Amino acid sequence: MSEPCIIAVAITGSQPRKKDTPAVPVTPAEQIESTHAAFEAGASLVHIHVRDADENPSSDPALFAEAGAGIRKYCPGMIVQYSTGGRGRAMEERGGMLSLQPDMASLATGSVNFPTMIYENPPEFVEGLATIMRDQRIKPEIEIFDTAMLYAAADLVARGYLIAPVHVQFVMGIKNALPAREAILDFLLGELPDVLPGATWTAAGIGRHQLTLNHWALSRGGHCRTGLEDNIRFDKDRLAASNAELVARVADLCGDYDRHPASPSEARAILGLPDVVT
Ligand code: ZN
Repeated sequence: MSEPCIIAVAITGSQPRKKDTPAVPVTPAEQIESTHAAFEAGASLVHIHVRDADENPSSDPALFAEAGAGIRKYCPGMIVQYSTGGRGRAMEERGGMLSLQPDMASLATGSVNFPTMIYENPPEFVEGLATIMRDQRIKPEIEIFDTAMLYAAADLVARGYLIAPVHVQFVMGIKNALPAREAILDFLLGELPDVLPGATWTAAGIGRHQLTLNHWALSRGGHCRTGLEDNIRFDKDRLAASNAELVARVADLCGDYDRHPASPSEARAILGLPDVVT
């Protein structure tokens, strides 16, 4: 029996939609439709940012609620993860949608330079978000944009802000943060059992590194992230047609590594989330 791989799809992100990226879903209706197609293609987890009427990044809980409700209706059991990420959003609003009690939410455990901005996550802010997630039983996905964030996560476990075993995501290929180098992934994976015992992990590659990281994760027993938030191209010759197309590519690759796309129930069991009776 092959090992399941959770395919996470990051459908939207916070980069402005350009004329050449029509496939990026922006309104809740578009997000629900795009997620449903990705779910049918093999995704079991969706990572969501929302946009306002002008397509700017938003923290409006009503938009998160609308997208989340549609996804729960049309994608039974799919894990819904809201982004608490910073681009274009006021810090005090970044956790505002956690009261909706998604299955998961992203949590970066430190600050890092992005290409043109500081992705700001001061200690007290991280502790605040982690406390809400702990108290509302929302499983954090610990975003590792830089090596120090792994050890900061361990410190949060030690101080009771995070409940072990945690789930981490290694994000590689963002300029000024972790480069997409195999030796770095292997170093981080070597540290993981000691630093965060029992942790599960996903790897995400940004831009042209997306597919590379999919291969590296599949070959090492990790889980995969894909989607138009991280990369809008299918390959150097053309843009991706949809989130579903990127998910289907990972689903197809699974067989090469004796893996299969995790069902929602398998994904929930791996992450320690309650199964959803449908
Ligand atoms: Zn995101």
